Amino acid sequence: MPAKIAVVGSLNMDLVVRAPHMPIPGETVIGSDFRTIPGGKGANQAVAAARLGAEVTMIGRVGDDDFGRAQLRNLGELGIDTTHVIVDPEAATGIALITLDASGQNSIVLASGANMRLAREDINAAQVTIVQSDVLVLQLESPLEVVTYAIDIAHAEGVKVILNPAPARPLPEETLARLDYLIPNESETALLTGIEVTDIHSAKEAAERLREEGVGTVILTLGARGAFLVSAEESVHVPGYKVEVVDTTAAGDAFVGGLAVALAQGQNLAEAARYANAAGALAVTRLGAQPSLPTRQEVEEFMKGRS
Ligand code: ADP
Repeated sequence: MPAKIAVVGSLNMDLVVRAPHMPIPGETVIGSDFRTIPGGKGANQAVAAARLGAEVTMIGRVGDDDFGRAQLRNLGELGIDTTHVIVDPEAATGIALITLDASGQNSIVLASGANMRLAREDINAAQVTIVQSDVLVLQLESPLEVVTYAIDIAHAEGVKVILNPAPARPLPEETLARLDYLIPNESETALLTGIEVTDIHSAKEAAERLREEGVGTVILTLGARGAFLVSAEESVHVPGYKVEVVDTTAAGDAFVGGLAVALAQGQNLAEAARYANAAGALAVTRLGAQPSLPTRQEVEEFMKGRS
């Protein structure tokens, strides 16, 4: 049986352009290679889980515009159920205007649009799907009040909850206590705990701090260093895989999708983290966000070659 995963989160269109340098105020710079790429952390994590073989439902909002329709088409083509992606006539689809300069720096303007109009009624409409899922995955590119509402519903029904707290913001204590899994990266961890993660020792300290705040299991992602896990039973570093880095965009989304699928299929925590590390590692070897997310077969072959 495929893992059943519900994702509550953002759908954006990334509008990406290359420029020789960033424009200063009032300046026009001649850019090139303009591309529109479906993104948003919610949609990326939904795609990550679907490529890894899960049955995925996306819950979110897009505008009644071409970018929204493109998102729905894209998710639909990947077999993701978009019944609960509301088309909102009052707002534009979320977009990210991304400029990449010659030195590889990026600058981003994000307009959340319809994502920030996600409402409790949207969660209520998807309630049956959520409670029938193995895992509910959420991020913080949607209204916090709605994210916490969805967490409450899943938690009350015994559905495992994974929160990727990105972009980071302080979280209510009662929400932390209802999370089965919290997956922050290093900078999100620093914001949530005040502890700068610089090595395995500080990673352990920060993860333990978050667990003391009531989270069931904390999984810090550490870039090339892999992940640090702290649960009631164990506190362990799961090293990352050595790969050639092309573009780290969506590494975190690949990891979250990988972890959700592996846990939903009954792998234990350390095994699931190794699987998620493999998904993250493959994502950094390729350019872009969604196009870089690996399939189940790619992850399995990659791990076979390295264990
Ligand atoms: P984010 O993309 O959210 O900042 P990280 O940089 O921690 O998150 O990356 C998420 C996961 O992707 C890591 O835990 C690891 O499994 C994998 N990963 C990221 N960067 C690398 C890398 N340079 N080499 C191998 N794996 C990587």
